[in-house]
Parts: sequence; structure tokens; C-alpha cells
Amino acid sequence: MVSIKHISSLRDEDLILAPDVDVPTLRSALEELSRIVGSDNIDILTKDHMMPDEDGHYFNVPREHDIFYVLEKDTFLASAVVSPKNTEEVSAIVKLANKVLLPLWPISRGRNLGYGGAAPRLRGSVVLDMGKQMNRVLEVDGKSATCLLEPGVSYFDLYDYLQNNGFKHLWIDNPDLGGGSVVGNALDRGAGYTPYGEHFSMHCGMEVVLPTGDVTRTGMGALPGNNTWQAFQYGYGPYPDGIFTQSNFGIVTKMGFWLMPDPGGYQSYLFSFPRDTDLPAIVEIVRVLRLNMTGVLNDEDIDKIAKEIGVGRWNVYGAMYGPKEMRDIQWEAIKSAFLTIPGAVYTFPEDVEKGDVAKVIHMRDDTLKGLPNTYELGWLNWTGPKGSLLGFSPISPTTGPDAIKQYNMVKRRFTEFGFDYIGTFIVVCLTFDKTDPESRRKAHRCIELLIDDAAKEGYGEYRTHLCFMDQIASVYNWNGNSSLKLNETLKDSLDPNGILAPGKSGIWPKRLRGRGFEIKRTQEYDGGHSDYESTVIPSGRIEGSKL
Ligand code: ADP
Repeated sequence: MVSIKHISSLRDEDLILAPDVDVPTLRSALEELSRIVGSDNIDILTKDHMMPDEDGHYFNVPREHDIFYVLEKDTFLASAVVSPKNTEEVSAIVKLANKVLLPLWPISRGRNLGYGGAAPRLRGSVVLDMGKQMNRVLEVDGKSATCLLEPGVSYFDLYDYLQNNGFKHLWIDNPDLGGGSVVGNALDRGAGYTPYGEHFSMHCGMEVVLPTGDVTRTGMGALPGNNTWQAFQYGYGPYPDGIFTQSNFGIVTKMGFWLMPDPGGYQSYLFSFPRDTDLPAIVEIVRVLRLNMTGVLNDEDIDKIAKEIGVGRWNVYGAMYGPKEMRDIQWEAIKSAFLTIPGAVYTFPEDVEKGDVAKVIHMRDDTLKGLPNTYELGWLNWTGPKGSLLGFSPISPTTGPDAIKQYNMVKRRFTEFGFDYIGTFIVVCLTFDKTDPESRRKAHRCIELLIDDAAKEGYGEYRTHLCFMDQIASVYNWNGNSSLKLNETLKDSLDPNGILAPGKSGIWPKRLRGRGFEIKRTQEYDGGHSDYESTVIPSGRIEGSKL
């Protein structure tokens, strides 16, 4: 990244141009952005100034490109990264972007690993880093168990704040890794492991900068002088919050959440099952227990590692929350259900202190009680260049036959392309070696085929990497693509100049629609003999400026 102060040293041909933005326009827009946010809060990108991957680690992810790039490293590349410090600055940036047709890509902490990280879908977009300066816990109400956050607050930050400010009685729910943003994760509809694990449904109220630069508040926030913004989700009239998730309809500058009051007791457990074929029976039991609200939360296959470390082929982690009397009743129900599967065994964290099984179960024990951590980076092998991650997240019914169908479908493709299966039954993690172009091609083609395999069975992905946004939008096509058409209608009305996150979730604004920016399916995989780039994106379309 290059400081704005050195912009004059950059050659015109080095700048990364978005479509419809020429060099003089970009240069003057960058100067204007620097006046809005201050010259220390804007950096310029060129192909030669991307963060070297070896410099990036979990707490210092690149904000201009995807560290786990599947296509080329500079396919999804920002032209600049800008970090505003308040809502007024965000609004001023958006108004400027409208004047010069500069696309913006908002991120909170940019740790959307496996889905594109901080990188923008449209090359040449300016990444709007909402996390660098807007990272305050604005309010916690200890009695109502609510909080109001800026986008930069991570799970670690929120946990520390509660611990250090007299709110130890409030628990948080974090996903597998604690360094992401509470707001960003909820906006991408991420999930965690406690009873508050469905993050979007636990939010309450948003402040949003619309694509025109106007600012609005949802729910009770629309009523001046209210004291219920974080208490009642809906307010009055239509409920718009959902349209600001996985979308490009607004930039969220504040967001409220409900926190879990200390449940008064907690016990996690691990059930292990010996055979691969146990999966359908396990899933049938999980569904019944979940519908009865018995508190089983997660099942996970750690496959071949399992053999090495002595846990089962399939493993179900879960926890019970509440006073001991309640947990005892739950435990009887959970235990008798799972022990109907021959060979099933269970362990509590306090039973194992040393060895690999202990590590696995204690890691899950922390996550299930809302202690933010980064344990999973271990199995992603973050430090080496080989551990790149691509997430595949199909939604299928919680039934035994569907579980086995989905598992076989993924395993078949993974085996065909030579990848190991690591799945948590909401996300399948494909790990590949980004330093090897062949491995990237295989990873891309494998997931591309799986999306279509899944669609044939009626399974759709709940979230995806930048590469697959167009393809997935194309399979959610009931009744003549009515869903995408509705999104496009909203997009054109809210964002007439098409400046906010073009292409997010396959939604392109009118100005850019049909001009070749959509990523088409690749041709049949031919063992890597074709010119890959030109089969993925029509040539000449990667550089917006070449249009
Ligand atoms: P995290 O660091 O929690 O994984 P990110 O910052 O990467 O989350 O955000 C995930 C995705 O959510 C982004 O790619 C972006 O599309 C969307 N997003 C994040 N923050 C905002 C925001 N403040 N306003 C609108 N969309 C956002």
C-alpha cells in the first residue's frame, strides 16, 4: 500500500481502475477522500504494492486482496483503502462516490476467511474499512442484556469490555475465530455455538448509511428520544433490517445486539461414534433433540485426524445451559438418544486433561461458552502457504437420508479433485495450496461443480466466496429468477448510480449489469491445459478500464 502523500510518484498505468472511472477522476477522488478522512487514513493500491502474503497473519489480514485467493492474487483487488472515523465521514464518502461513480466495498474487520476476506468483488473498488477507527462499544445495558456496537468491535474486544466493565454476568456468542467483527459476522449471517448462535436474529436495531449518503435508523431507532432501540426489534411498518445483510443496499455504522445472561450453569460434552455409516442415525437424533430444545448445538467430522488422536469417526459437540437440575434432565434425554447408536461413547472436558482428545474437547468447551479464541487457525495451518481455505456452505434438511446424500456428494467431488474432507455440517472447508496454480484451479472447479450438484438436489449455499456469488445467484432462480429481479429492483431504487459493493451476492447495479463483470462457470476442467484466466472471466473484463 502506498500513502496518499506519495500519489504523485505513482504512474497512471499502476493505478487500479474501476469501470467508468478514468485516471484523472481517480486521482482527484483520492485527494478528496483524503480531505474527508485525513491523509493517515487512506492508502493507495497498485499491483506491485499488495501486502506480501507472508506479512499477513490473522491479526493483520490484507485489506486490499483475498489472502486465500482462488483465482489470481490481483483478481479481486481494491484501488484504495479508506478508514472513516464516524457516520458523517461515511456519508461524505458515499456522496463523493456518487459524484464520480467510484465503487465502495464496506468491511468491518475483513476476516471473512474462506469467503474472500476483505477483498472487493469488483476490481478497483475502494475498500471502506469501517473497523480501523469505528471500533467502540457504545453502550451496554446490564439489566436488559443488550449492547450497541460500532463495526470494528471484535469478539475479543466485546468479551474484554464486558469482563472489565462490570458485565461479567453477560456472555457473548462467538464463531470459530474470535478476531472477526460482531457486526460484520451478523451482516454476513454468520453463526456461533451457544443458544444465541444465530447472530442476525440476535441483533436489535441498526444505523445505516444508504447508497445515496442519507442516514437512517431501523426499528425503534426511527423514533427520536426512544429508549428501546436495543430492546424491540421491529419498530413500526415494514421490517427492513434483513435487506442490509449479505447485500449492497447500505453501510451499517451502528448495530445493537442481545447478549446471553449467565445461564447459571454450563456443561459441555463430546459424543463419539465409531463408523462412517453412523451419520444418518446421528442426524436424526440431533433433529429430534433440537426440536425439543434440548441444546445439542453442533456436530463435526474430523475424519482422519480423529483416527490419529483417538476420537470417533463422527463427533457431536454440544453443551447444556442452565442450573444443574435442568441440565440433569436434559442430559438423560441426550444420553439415552445418542447411546442408541452401537459403539457411541461420551466424554466431558473435565474427564480428560492431557493429549489430543483433551485439546479438541477443551477448545470446543471454550467456544461453547462464548470465550473468543483462534484455535481453528491451527487446523488451517495459517502460517504456511499451504493452508488456504475455501468455504462451501450448503443448506440441506436435518434428516439422515439428506445428511448422507450431502456427505457423499461432497466427498465424491473432493476425492475426484484430491482434497481431504473437513466438514462441520454447515460449512465444508476445502483447504488448498494457493501457491500452486493447479491446486487453485482444482479448488475453484470442485466448488463450482458442487454448487450445481447441490442445486440439483435442492440444496443451496447460505453464504459464499466472491468467486461464486454470480453462480449461486443463478441457481436461486425460482419463477424466472424472481428473487434476483426483486434484489435488482431494490438495488436500482436505493443505489441509482450503482456505487455500493457492486456484485455482492450476485446483485449488480443497472450501470454495470450485463457488461461482462459476472463470473461465468468455467469450461469443463481439462487438467489445467487451458488458459484458465480467460475461461473464468471474459478477457479484457478483469481491468474495468479496458472496457
Ligand atoms: P468479519 O471480519 O467479521 O469476518 P467482514 O468485515 O469481513 O467480517 O464482513 C463480512 C462481510 O459483511 C463483508 O464482506 C461485507 O460484505 C459485509 N459488511 C461488513 N461490514 C459491513 C458494514 N459495516 N456495512 C455493510 N456491510 C458490511
